[in-house]
Amino acid sequence: METTTDIFEGKHSLLITNVVADGKAVDIFIDETGTIAGFGEYERKEHKGDAEFIIDGDHALALPGLVNTHTHAAMSLLRGYADDMILQDWLSQKIWPLEAHLTGDDVYLGTRLACLEMIRSGTTAFNDMYFFMEDAARAVDESGLRAVLSYGFIDLFSEDKRETECKATENLVTHIRNMKNSRIKASAGPHAIYTVSKEGLEWCAKFAREQKIGTHIHLSETEKEVQDCIARYGMRPSAFLDTCGILTPRTVAAHCCWLDEAECTLLKKRGVSVSHNPASNMKLATHRAMPYPLLSAAGVNVCLGTDGCASNNSLDLFEEAKIAALLQKFYWNDPTILPAQEALAMATVHGAEALGFATGGLTVGAVADIVLVSTRRVCNTPLHNATSNLVYSCNGGAVDTTICDGKVLMLEGKIPGESAIREEAARASYELVRRERYS
Ligand SMILES: [Zn+2]
Repeated sequence: METTTDIFEGKHSLLITNVVADGKAVDIFIDETGTIAGFGEYERKEHKGDAEFIIDGDHALALPGLVNTHTHAAMSLLRGYADDMILQDWLSQKIWPLEAHLTGDDVYLGTRLACLEMIRSGTTAFNDMYFFMEDAARAVDESGLRAVLSYGFIDLFSEDKRETECKATENLVTHIRNMKNSRIKASAGPHAIYTVSKEGLEWCAKFAREQKIGTHIHLSETEKEVQDCIARYGMRPSAFLDTCGILTPRTVAAHCCWLDEAECTLLKKRGVSVSHNPASNMKLATHRAMPYPLLSAAGVNVCLGTDGCASNNSLDLFEEAKIAALLQKFYWNDPTILPAQEALAMATVHGAEALGFATGGLTVGAVADIVLVSTRRVCNTPLHNATSNLVYSCNGGAVDTTICDGKVLMLEGKIPGESAIREEAARASYELVRRERYS
């Protein structure tokens, strides 16, 4: 590396030398538009004179940036605030009362903290659903990451509330369009079938279709959700959502623990992507693992998510890939299910496909969303099989360089402004708890 003075300022042409991708030693040249313009064994000869900065990869493993397909980023402020409780009590006694005191500034600072954690652990894109999303968008814009942002639409079956939620969804889409930032997209975010009326779901489906945007929803997280749906609508959740028009190739459905076989076939038919959130499911004890064998047999695009930080409690997708592989093997009683290669694909290419970011992996012409995982770590020693180490022994702490859209966000473990982001988020979190306590 020539200098660190302003590699973090804006985009530069970059030559990354001496990294390993798919088992081969390569150099990667990224042009000033943020596109991979050279990829191979001899790029350093070809592009040495063109690059403003040269990053010595030092035998690191180069991967496409990881993609977190379900989270509530600003919930990073609630990390460790309440654990080990029954889902309903956890929500009604701890999470919702605190969230009632959230401000736009809190969401901005919490999202900044989440982005910092994602950059540090190699995630370059995420799918977010929360409130005060204009403030979240500001944090994402500054962070350099990619995101799809949805306002969590919750009408609680009330017509008045529905109007407010429709307006908030429309406002967010307009706001994000006006930002003109190609890294940030809006989507519709009907929270779930137990918090949104049929009319609300139908409105979201129509709106998403008209605006040509995605839809982000929680689906079949608990058995109660399935049973209540059958009692209320006479059909299982996926079939019901289909009648509302929610299931499309631009839809990401999170959790999906309680799907049956017919629902897996239906999701495939509609082109829906399923986001597996194994840590959150185990922590809140959903009592059934997402049926990966059925979804994979049906050919559904299955990707990975961490869920919000209060139910995980980290945003580290490397850890999530390991937990996914282990949970699937354990729950379905078969160690051949979800091998490391598939778990890593869920965290990378399948996630990019789900969010419609044509990041395309590590090839010439693809946008440069690249992370470098150090091989000078215990977790990568010995290195018989890079994929095995990445999923089963390393976590996000082994990432030392993160590049998104051709811009360097972390270099050799260094992220500009990190301590201020941490300190301001911590202060906002303690202040939020204080407001709730004395309200
Ligand atoms: Zn969630």
